[in-house]
Amino acid sequence: MSQILLALQAVCLLMSLAVVFVSMTNWGYTQMRYFTCLSLAAFLLGAGHLLEVTSSSLEAAVVACKVEYLGIPFLGVFCFLFGFDYSGSRLRRSWHTVVLLMISTVMTLLVFTWPAQRLLYADLSFSTEGALPHLTVTPGPLYFTVFVYSYGLTGIGCVIIIRNMVRSGRKKLRHCLHFVIAATIPLAVQFCLLAGLTPAGWDPIPTAVNLTVSSLCLYLTRYRTPEWRSLGRELVIQKMKDAFILIDNDGHFLDANERAAEYFPALRRVGQWTPAAEIEGLALAILNEDLNNFEFPHPGKKEVMFLRVSRTPLEARNRVLGTCIVVYDDTENHKLMLELQRMARHDPLSGLYNRKTFFTDAGLSFDLFARDKIPGSVLMMDIDYFKRINDSFGHACGDTVIVGISDILRARLRHTDIAGRYGGEELCAWLPHTDTEGAALVAESIRKSVEAATFPSPSGYFNVTISIGVASAGLDYGRSFADLVNEADIALYNAKNSGRNQVSARPGNE
Ligand code: GH3
Ligand code: MG
Ligand code: MG
Repeated sequence: MSQILLALQAVCLLMSLAVVFVSMTNWGYTQMRYFTCLSLAAFLLGAGHLLEVTSSSLEAAVVACKVEYLGIPFLGVFCFLFGFDYSGSRLRRSWHTVVLLMISTVMTLLVFTWPAQRLLYADLSFSTEGALPHLTVTPGPLYFTVFVYSYGLTGIGCVIIIRNMVRSGRKKLRHCLHFVIAATIPLAVQFCLLAGLTPAGWDPIPTAVNLTVSSLCLYLTRYRTPEWRSLGRELVIQKMKDAFILIDNDGHFLDANERAAEYFPALRRVGQWTPAAEIEGLALAILNEDLNNFEFPHPGKKEVMFLRVSRTPLEARNRVLGTCIVVYDDTENHKLMLELQRMARHDPLSGLYNRKTFFTDAGLSFDLFARDKIPGSVLMMDIDYFKRINDSFGHACGDTVIVGISDILRARLRHTDIAGRYGGEELCAWLPHTDTEGAALVAESIRKSVEAATFPSPSGYFNVTISIGVASAGLDYGRSFADLVNEADIALYNAKNSGRNQVSARPGNE
């Protein structure tokens, strides 16, 4: 008889060891990690018990008992955590897990420090009576606490899983049955033990636990396609590069992935069902729909990212249950958009505004200042004898001159002034809050700067000059911006006709 029981224990222990390896190979699935820990705890219990029933002295049996207690107090905790995780929930606050594991560790220590203290075992004696040698326990004051703790947590874990399976619909009922049978093996064995149906002097529970874990592993691998598909989906959500946040209809926080926690660290500190109003920082603005796109410092690099928020109603059975919020990195598109905008508004050679933007922006500024009757002026500039430069040194050299003069213009103007490329080698500028006198002074200084500048050519440095026409709008502003530009153009003609390299001004009605 004892040989059969020993063989049974050994076989179940080997199965349990195989389970540890199988579940370890699936370590990548977060949910399988708790199951791996659970199967390891079951293996330690089984191994310790096998040592106990093969020991020949009290000392050896106590050592075996210590091995058992490396597993026993953790069985309930890992069953509970596995149940929670398997059914899609998660203990958001990691200290809950830490506290549970610490209580288990204390229980293990109570066995390791026996007989210096006798809280768990008042006494242990070694008995060879019955089917196999074993320890006989005289319970200490905390002995039954371990039972309640382990069985309690195991029970909760199983109830959570079964409740989730039942809720998930009829398709899962078969899974449910398999799971219930696997999970109730230790209970059934406990019942047989109490009813005296097991061989006297043999504790069948460790073997039953090993059997349960093996059966559960079979369950998990058998139904892995549907189960792991959802695991796979969860994995995609967890690892995706976009941030994912889930809230219910009342604005309670439900879930977030790793990226969301990276962007908004406040989410790491909140638990499930926390009202959005209690969440700090940017996350709150997003949950409250106050923020739809925003610049954000890159968590890893010294760069600024451009994030965009998309919200999708979470629907199930024709009911909106909450909102899925996805915050995605739109930096590349945003940069492209800015570049397109820049290209649409600027002249590619000079970098100044193009003619269209000049008229739109300067026209708007003109209207604004006209409303307050504040004077403003337009400068119209044309490079003198530019054809000759092109003809003598080539068009590339002519381009350098346009770029150089544009730089001079940019450097000389105020940031509120608006400068553009009007045509080929004609540049223009709107100078708000500047009367004829002031504008003529600015124009003269630009003219002098251009005259003093030198430009490179294949046959050495050369100089160019420009003519500038100035027109000002005074207090009456009786004309449009286009009229003012025309007047500046006429003034420019005057400057050209009067010998070039000079400023000609047409005062407004000031
Ligand atoms: P004026 O003193 O009367 O202004 O004489 P000008 O030779 O400058 O005469 P005009 O203004 O008519 O000449 C404009 C020339 O500028 C004609 C064209 O070949 C040249 N041009 C226009 N756009 C560009 C450009 O983008 N690059 C270069 N290199 N040349 C240009
Ligand atoms: Mg011209
Ligand atoms: Mg010219």
